[in-house]
Amino acid sequence: MSFYRTCMKCDAPLAADEVAIYMKLVSRTAREFLCIDCLGVQLHCGREPIEKLIAYFRASGHCVLFR
Ligand SMILES: [Zn+2]
Repeated sequence: MSFYRTCMKCDAPLAADEVAIYMKLVSRTAREFLCIDCLGVQLHCGREPIEKLIAYFRASGHCVLFR
């Protein structure tokens, strides 16, 4: 079974990190996901803060979604 997913809005292929940050920020039980760009639009913050969050969670190593 592949973990390949695409953005539900623009169909862009999603990296595992994009899926993880979506679960973290929106819903842990989500079955559909947004890419960083579309998530940035939805959260009205743009993609930059989201990329920083991904880097933060990855560096912290505590979150099970970012191992
Ligand atoms: Zn998208």
